[in-house]
Amino acid sequence: MIVISGFSGAGKGTLMKRLLSDYDEFALSVSMTSRQMREGEVDGREYFFVSKEEFETAIKEGKLLEHAEYCGNYYGTPKEYVEKKLKEGKNVILEIEVQGAMQIRKKFPEALLLYVTPPSIAELERRLKARGTETDEVIKRRLTQARTEVDYVDDYDYLVINDNLDECVKEMYGIICASSFEIKRQNALIKDLQEELSKLKF
Ligand code: 5GP
Repeated sequence: MIVISGFSGAGKGTLMKRLLSDYDEFALSVSMTSRQMREGEVDGREYFFVSKEEFETAIKEGKLLEHAEYCGNYYGTPKEYVEKKLKEGKNVILEIEVQGAMQIRKKFPEALLLYVTPPSIAELERRLKARGTETDEVIKRRLTQARTEVDYVDDYDYLVINDNLDECVKEMYGIICASSFEIKRQNALIKDLQEELSKLKF
């Protein structure tokens, strides 16, 4: 399981699309949210758009792996899809904010946590404005949120700087590949090796 977080406007969405189109071992989890649909978004593609009440029912019924409130709206990861894709052997990407990421870290210590940032806050502000989909008020709220979020970056495994998209996609893929060889992710194989060694007769 790969968690990708980052300041709103860091370019996570674009990065994810590229990672999924360039490499085929990934599956992207589609989250559930109670926020308003933006122009160009499609229900079931960017998010499953639901009412606050429907979201609260999903929480009560234990259908979410994690959930959080962000800028006045609920966001959460539906459990079923993630479990299915993991069983199929896919690397499942969760593009979620920090509170949710910390819940995943607790439940799945082997998950890889990446934090995406633009090279500077000035660049972040520029990208948020250039997106043209948010009001000044919403942009302000998202930058205020960034101030709180930055304190969680220490809890992530890697910081990914999204300056040049092509390079960033390659760097991210490199991190993901390298991390799969980390000793802590090889426990099953190490156990097998130990068992085989203990059975050797000579
Ligand atoms: P946006 O409204 O811009 O699509 O997303 C706002 C924030 O919610 C982003 O930081 C995004 O990563 C986060 N987010 C999206 N889906 C989920 C989710 O399922 N769980 C959590 N905790 N955060 C999410």
